[in-house]
Amino acid sequence: MKFCPKCGSKNINSPLPHDMQKYECKDCGYIGAFIIDDREIVEEIQKEYLKNKNKIEE
Ligand SMILES: [Zn+2]
Repeated sequence: MKFCPKCGSKNINSPLPHDMQKYECKDCGYIGAFIIDDREIVEEIQKEYLKNKNKIEE
């Protein structure tokens, strides 16, 4: 299982057919080669992301 390093979503795919090293997150728009596969780290990222997101929306 792979996760977005920015928002912690698992809703990611490879955007470029000629560059399979890069992934795209469908939830936050992140594009990059760095992908998280550690569930504990992902939970921390999701918590921080939601905190920041709520701050912006307030
Ligand atoms: Zn994301």
